[in-house]
Amino acid sequence: MAPVQRMSTTMLKTLRDDPADAETASHKLLVRAGYVRRTSAGVWTWLPMGKKVLENVSRVVREEMDAIGGQEVLLPALLPKEPYETSGRWEEYGDLLFRLKDRKGAEYLLGPTHEEIFTLTVKDQCTSYKDLPVMLYQIQTKYRDEARPRSGVLRGREFQMKDSYSFDTTDEGLAESYRLHREAYTRIFERLGLDYRVVSAVSGAMGGSASEEFLAPAAAGEDTFVDCPACDYAANTEAVTAVVAPADAAEHGPVEELDTPDTPTIESLAEHLGVPASATLKNLLVKIDGEITAIGVPGDREVDLGKLGEHLAPAVVELVTAEDFAGRPDLVRGYVGPQGLKLRYLADPRVAPGTAWVTGANKPDTHARNVVCGRDFEVDQYLDVVVVEQGDPCPRCGAGLEIGRAIEIGHIFQLGRKYADAFGLDVLGPQGKPVRVTMGSYGIGVSRAVAALAEQTHDASGLCWPREVAPADVHVVAAGKALQTELALELAEKLGAAGVRVLVDDRAGVSPGVKFTDAELIGVPTILVVGRGAASGVVELKDRRTGEREELTVAEAVERLTARV
Ligand code: ATP
Ligand code: MG
Repeated sequence: MAPVQRMSTTMLKTLRDDPADAETASHKLLVRAGYVRRTSAGVWTWLPMGKKVLENVSRVVREEMDAIGGQEVLLPALLPKEPYETSGRWEEYGDLLFRLKDRKGAEYLLGPTHEEIFTLTVKDQCTSYKDLPVMLYQIQTKYRDEARPRSGVLRGREFQMKDSYSFDTTDEGLAESYRLHREAYTRIFERLGLDYRVVSAVSGAMGGSASEEFLAPAAAGEDTFVDCPACDYAANTEAVTAVVAPADAAEHGPVEELDTPDTPTIESLAEHLGVPASATLKNLLVKIDGEITAIGVPGDREVDLGKLGEHLAPAVVELVTAEDFAGRPDLVRGYVGPQGLKLRYLADPRVAPGTAWVTGANKPDTHARNVVCGRDFEVDQYLDVVVVEQGDPCPRCGAGLEIGRAIEIGHIFQLGRKYADAFGLDVLGPQGKPVRVTMGSYGIGVSRAVAALAEQTHDASGLCWPREVAPADVHVVAAGKALQTELALELAEKLGAAGVRVLVDDRAGVSPGVKFTDAELIGVPTILVVGRGAASGVVELKDRRTGEREELTVAEAVERLTARV
């Protein structure tokens, strides 16, 4: 038994025009179809239709989390500052954190994610190894003061997240909790009807080891990922590792200085010498926590500053300025080379031992040839920080990688003991000695998943929901006449009684054209039109996705639609 939802009494106002500031399809369509309403920048109201979709996503997430033994809890969003000071994130989060004070001046934050509070909860509730493993989750409102909340509910400053945390006493236990989550996520995204990839990710500020992201390919996505067309390798571009061919230092002649006036750029140098840019070594100078450091990458590659920041976090990375050169005559702008350089030297893995390069000679207007890594200079640390390019070799099989854009819909981490160490989370082990707990943390963007689904499934006429998340199973459209409305309502009641979720457009004084356009925009998977044929008991069934239409008798339509329940 499902109550029939009548459009004549539903608070649902569709709009003809896109909101002025909307850039993504999900933003435009969710607003136009009356699912969400902007309250302030990055803060959204879920209207009746939107709330249904959000609830459907939550239900699927909840069912699958329960199925792997997750226990649902609800933590506050308003959190005291102290635990976040203990973990260091009160500082690390910087401007992303919403901070506030109570009337007594005590400091609080609005939770961006809850590792700290879950750790404290388990510390309080679990004392013995027998109390573990435990998996806790919540579907809750999160707050992050995002820099550019422009894409509707895709990136909110207030948003719904499912976050879960696993607590184990052994590494094997953590691996198992992680595996269970990975499988639950696979089932969740499949049931939601999302097209997704699981990719390896850098864990960044979270610390810890294994980490994978669930990405939904979509042009509106803010993440880039690589996909191998030949094997199952897929990774966030930030996590791709370079493939390096071994080289032999003995092949190369001695270092040779070259007079290269007016060649401060790689292009001008490559042209002057008649060598490819890939044979030159470019040395970018940055400041890492204030210390000037050089990073060597092949001349044809760009350094990804975001990736560099991720790798070196929490150190602060800045570009050098003209003042930084002032006190350093040894640093010759545009002609820096790693040989004899008195700086820490980081390099791309392509700058492998034995490879020879054309690079700066640390003298004005001069470059050097046959500068060999491991012979003429040493690399202090290798870092994968160049921008990945279409066609770069797959680290697993060597085929040319493809680059795509995607929306991050989920993220799973093996955190390890980082938070347990910070908060001293131990339980009494089988031998009576305390054992440090190891943790996993797992997130799904519940409200973001609604937007991701809209991005992936919409068409030119509007939204087009997969059945599991749709706000209704059938949208019955009464074309206009009183008799048609009567039959439509009768049909809707019959379907509702059989458990079919029905939205019925029984609005008086709205033209059939507007009703059809609205039905397409709203995106319920099946549209049932009660129109001209109604007098003779014939209705039209339309598949929203394929556009296929079929005329059926009322009895046939009821049978067809109830068979699916
Ligand atoms: P992003 O890189 O997109 O900012 P994140 O990596 O910071 O996301 P996590 O901390 O991994 O996000 O959060 C878990 C999940 O919560 C993400 O995978 C994403 O689906 C969702 N999420 C994160 N930030 C937002 C946001 N501002 N609006 C909506 N959903 C979000
Ligand atoms: Mg993430």
